[in-house]
Amino acid sequence: MRVFIPTQHIHHHPQKDYSDGLPPFDHLEIPSRVDAILKGIQAASTVDLVKVDRLALEAVYNLHDKDYVDFLLAISETLEPEQEYMPSIFRNNLSKSPLPFQGGMYCQEIGTPIGAKSITAALNAAAVAEEAAKYIIKSGQDAFALCRPPGHHAAPRRYGGYCFFNNAYIAAKVLAQQGRCAVLDIDYHLGDGSLEFADTNIPYFSLHAEPWQNYPYLDANVRLPTVHSELMTFSPGMRGRFYLSLLETLIAKLNKGHFNYLVVSVGFDTLGTDAIQDQSLLLEPKDYAFIAQLLAKIEAKILLVLEGGYDISNLFDCAKYFMSGFRTSC
Ligand SMILES: [Zn+2]
Repeated sequence: MRVFIPTQHIHHHPQKDYSDGLPPFDHLEIPSRVDAILKGIQAASTVDLVKVDRLALEAVYNLHDKDYVDFLLAISETLEPEQEYMPSIFRNNLSKSPLPFQGGMYCQEIGTPIGAKSITAALNAAAVAEEAAKYIIKSGQDAFALCRPPGHHAAPRRYGGYCFFNNAYIAAKVLAQQGRCAVLDIDYHLGDGSLEFADTNIPYFSLHAEPWQNYPYLDANVRLPTVHSELMTFSPGMRGRFYLSLLETLIAKLNKGHFNYLVVSVGFDTLGTDAIQDQSLLLEPKDYAFIAQLLAKIEAKILLVLEGGYDISNLFDCAKYFMSGFRTSC
């Protein structure tokens, strides 16, 4: 398995998450996640490792709104090395306000601080997804993109949920130029950003926790779209075999699309011990082998893109079991 990793993510190390109010808790989206998952993959399969150093500025501008990307770059320029940015006021249009206030029209919540190198890291993660997609087209093999920061909560002009740029849709746009492509999201959370990118060209399939009672805590008046997407919700307290049966149903629907390529947003935050869950799901590390076995039966070439997963003491095992169930070559 060829695995693509970012070289610049270590410079993105958010300190505190204020989502639960004061006092803030230590941020869960930490650099050692990538190491733990990579070691787990290596324990179960032979890895051909590719380190990606570049930034995917062009791909990011092609996917996201220009003023949004411009803002993220501009605010980064103002930050000292250990400083973090968080908007203080949230309105739909702050374009007439001074730069430090403008973030409030792009930012979803107060859990996603921007450090001086966060946006560089996010551009590097986008490049990891892009390079992995190009490799799949060239080789006809599957690949794993260990993107960090993650991306599935990033919308055309919104950041949050630890995400800045939508790595999965950046990769999917590359793949869709060569054949039919879809995105399948198996992170604990609904990828509300990915959902906004879903269209006829690249539909979105997701199995997730109920999104009004879990992040992204949707507006009570919001109704989820039913076109260009297939969304399924799991129940609180659900164990592995019931979860797997739901995933099997979702994959059966996806297979009807006869896709050539599939981007899978992989989140290990479905693990029962992950602190980020509001409604506990009871998956164990060994369940990831069965999840991967279901994915391995899909005919499309698969690009695995890392999203969440924050139980650092179990990420090695989750990744190891996952790779033990996935196909190692095509
Ligand atoms: Zn998640």
